[in-house]
Amino acid sequence: MKKQENSRDLVVDFKKYLVELHRDGVDYLPAGEEPAPAESVGVSLLASLRELKRRGEGLSGCRKCSLASGRENVVFGEGGFRKKVMLIGEGPGETEDRQGRPFVGRAGRLLDKILMSIGLTREDVYITNIVKCRPPGNRDPRPDEILACWAHLEDQIEALRPRAIVSLGSPATRTLLESRKGISQLRERVHDYQGIPLIATYHPAYLLRSYTVENRRRVWEDVKRLQKLLQEEDPPEE
Ligand code: SF4
Repeated sequence: MKKQENSRDLVVDFKKYLVELHRDGVDYLPAGEEPAPAESVGVSLLASLRELKRRGEGLSGCRKCSLASGRENVVFGEGGFRKKVMLIGEGPGETEDRQGRPFVGRAGRLLDKILMSIGLTREDVYITNIVKCRPPGNRDPRPDEILACWAHLEDQIEALRPRAIVSLGSPATRTLLESRKGISQLRERVHDYQGIPLIATYHPAYLLRSYTVENRRRVWEDVKRLQKLLQEEDPPEE
């Protein structure tokens, strides 16, 4: 029952989001692809996802950096990864820390709507962060914390070999691209991360704080860039 209510809320929220996009001047939605049936997900991918889940569970006692002392749960990452897109944020927030899952608070609900606008769901992506434990007061992770946790993210990228990475917000984008530029500049083109196309966009938590027409349009442009990239690699059948 709870699950049904959540889905209904998401549809209602999504309709509101579409109205906002329309108000912002977006007058069409790109055609989404039919979701892949679960059985079309390769056996090796399922094995990688299972292996990652196991590694995530094995991290529950990690004390490699000072973030361990304030966390409730290690938030490793999750997702069905059917479209082989990996989303990387900066670190878990309060709700994520409590539930042990990435992007489940208000920012997560906004992320769901953003994904839905190009026909994607959580089953199509894998979501994680550059640090797996919550920085106190939701501050940005410090360089020493990012460094301590880096091997875990590298493992995830190596195991999944995504066809595209979307970095959410400045800390994740600047870390992955080893750049000191701001997110507004970095989001303007597709980058290359070790042979994987990387698209940068605003973190949904920032978008919630600064919910302007301009920012919504920018995020819309970024997700369209992602959709174009996926379609170029995997053109829809005639
Ligand atoms: S942030 Fe990463 S390195 Fe630090 S304690 Fe958590 S899992 Fe370990």
